[in-house]
Amino acid sequence: MAGFTTRAIHALHGIEENAVVPPIYTSTTFGQPTDGTEGPFEYQRGGNPTRSNAEITLAALEGAEHAYVYATGMGATAAAMGILKSGQTIMLGMPVYGGNYRMATIEMPKRGVSYEFVHDFTALTDADFVGKDVGMIFLETPTNPTLRVVDIRAVAEIAHRNGAVLVVDNTFMTPYLQRPLELGADIVVQSATKYLGGHADLLAGVATTNDAALADELFKAQLITGNVLSPIDSYRLIQSVKTLAIRMDRQQQNTARVLEAVTAHPAVQKVYFPGSHSEAEAQLQAAQSSGNGALFSFTMAEGKDIKAFLDALQVFTFAVSLGGIESLVCLPSTMTQGAFSDEDLEASGMTKRLVRVAVGIEEAEDLIADITAALDAA
Ligand SMILES: *Cc1c(COP(=O)(O)O)cnc(C)c1O
Repeated sequence: MAGFTTRAIHALHGIEENAVVPPIYTSTTFGQPTDGTEGPFEYQRGGNPTRSNAEITLAALEGAEHAYVYATGMGATAAAMGILKSGQTIMLGMPVYGGNYRMATIEMPKRGVSYEFVHDFTALTDADFVGKDVGMIFLETPTNPTLRVVDIRAVAEIAHRNGAVLVVDNTFMTPYLQRPLELGADIVVQSATKYLGGHADLLAGVATTNDAALADELFKAQLITGNVLSPIDSYRLIQSVKTLAIRMDRQQQNTARVLEAVTAHPAVQKVYFPGSHSEAEAQLQAAQSSGNGALFSFTMAEGKDIKAFLDALQVFTFAVSLGGIESLVCLPSTMTQGAFSDEDLEASGMTKRLVRVAVGIEEAEDLIADITAALDAA
């Protein structure tokens, strides 16, 4: 198989008239053969050439047989969790992104699906599956925002032994750094709004799988609920992923340098990055992915003023989201995980003093100078 960026650029090679960049088809309907055979496309909600091109490209990046693109990352989560039936249980790795938490704790119970939290997958045993119909384990690794590392292969084994499907939200890593399907996951979902889109100007989601029956369910989520990515946004997603690897390389280099400066600063109590929790997690991260990504978190030392820190930032923007070329900081307890109850925040080790940093592609020197000056001001 060709390398990652070669696939990102050439997945659509030769698809239409050998155009190096295939066109955008906005047509909502497609002329049909009158002889009773089916044309490749019929009506835009069910499929169209540009969405299909985005799906071919994303499947190629993941090394997956099937990919489906949705209106947003939550659209992909909704499609994946939508396969559950009334009476089943979903096990949700904690902490997770606030939207995934809302989907599992607010929307799924309305459909008769109950949820359970798993704070430590290493403690999960077959006994935890007895007496209930666990249809799905849904997790993120590294977790948001504490960056705990979960063993995808081990969780896939226990899920499959107990008849459950494993869904991994791979938004933080992207297929460039981690490919959960190869480690045993059944479905991978991602918010393409983040690194795949990469420029903070596109809302999109993707789900991939190698299982034909699950693929059919993921497709029906598009067809039945209308949760689809438009042709223009599909085109923009194809364009963006061509530079994913070079953006991510630069973002990771910058992250290592900014993390070093933040770790050394006296206003910082503790830093969190993939592998920071234990040597075992560091080894796991190195084994199941090819990088640590471009996110880290830290807790401010007692007595330091977070507002003064935020107000002093000039290059970093105080905002939710991540994965764009611009650097951002946010306060997860009130922003990305604002949906969490106080109890779930506490259980997930998320204090009000926790700051999450998403590093972009600006010059590392400028980022270090900015965050150091802001920490000095805290
Ligand atoms: C942002 C995000 C989502 C949701 O994606 P949207 O595109 O905002 O709907 C899901 N999972 C993770 C890990 C995210 O960061």
